[in-house]
Amino acid sequence: MESQPRRVARVIEPQPVVEGAGVRLRRSIAGWALDYLDPFLLFDHFESDDPDDYLAGFPLHPHRGIETVTYMLAGEVDHKDTIGNAGTIGPGDVQWMTAGGGIMHEEMPRPREGRMGGFQLWVNMPAKLKMSRPRYQEITAADIPVAERPDGTRVRVVAGTADGVHGPVTEIYAEPEYLDVELPAGAGFVQEIPRGHAAFAYVFRGEGEFGVAGDLGYRGDLDGSLVHAPGLVVFEDGDEVRVRAYSHPVRFLLVSGAPLGEPIARYGPFVMNTRAELQQALADLRDGTFVWTEGRG
Ligand code: FE
Repeated sequence: MESQPRRVARVIEPQPVVEGAGVRLRRSIAGWALDYLDPFLLFDHFESDDPDDYLAGFPLHPHRGIETVTYMLAGEVDHKDTIGNAGTIGPGDVQWMTAGGGIMHEEMPRPREGRMGGFQLWVNMPAKLKMSRPRYQEITAADIPVAERPDGTRVRVVAGTADGVHGPVTEIYAEPEYLDVELPAGAGFVQEIPRGHAAFAYVFRGEGEFGVAGDLGYRGDLDGSLVHAPGLVVFEDGDEVRVRAYSHPVRFLLVSGAPLGEPIARYGPFVMNTRAELQQALADLRDGTFVWTEGRG
């Protein structure tokens, strides 16, 4: 059967929000336009050269039932959590945190850097794993492989596979693929994505044509959607995503994963299946039993 290109379902304009102790972000998933894109629950882009926009950071806070993925572009963030991890993530580094049954952590941007930028994605966990042991994967920029193509395209592979290059983040239930793709002007890009997986692109530099249906070499009328940074492109189902850059380069994240198809009950940093489980999370927090311990779940 012929491979079917994925068309653009919609383009979301990021909305400004203030989170943590007063950090300015652009939110594309979990905002008014798009509540969630199963299995993705939230997508934020933070980028600023004004320390007042980010210095307040994210002091100690809980998470349960999800995974949070932080990918840094610029600046540094100090972090600490209740499973004993502490350190600093810098430009190009990825922190993939599985909150599972309960973790508390803090994420604090460092004041000595001028520019701060990056992304945070929340990936849902299935009911059977929501109360599991928390886990933490930190991958430094040097350990994220880059697939380079003859036309100058560069693909940093955080999770999943591009051109036979495998990303270091593994064993995540939703089988996510997380690519950082840079196309020079005039380049075309095709990436296979399993049918049935949810997929989005977040355009954060330049502009490109997404959801190209025909030949990537074609230079006539647009047959996809021209999207400028910043914008989040949600794809319809299909076998592959096609993107074309014209007179400008374009850089975007391409993220996909298997939907869970389970009920979602969310309240701030907790994402469970039922209201009763949310009430339990709040009760555990109040009772001081929130953090996951051996033998509990
Ligand atoms: Fe957090």
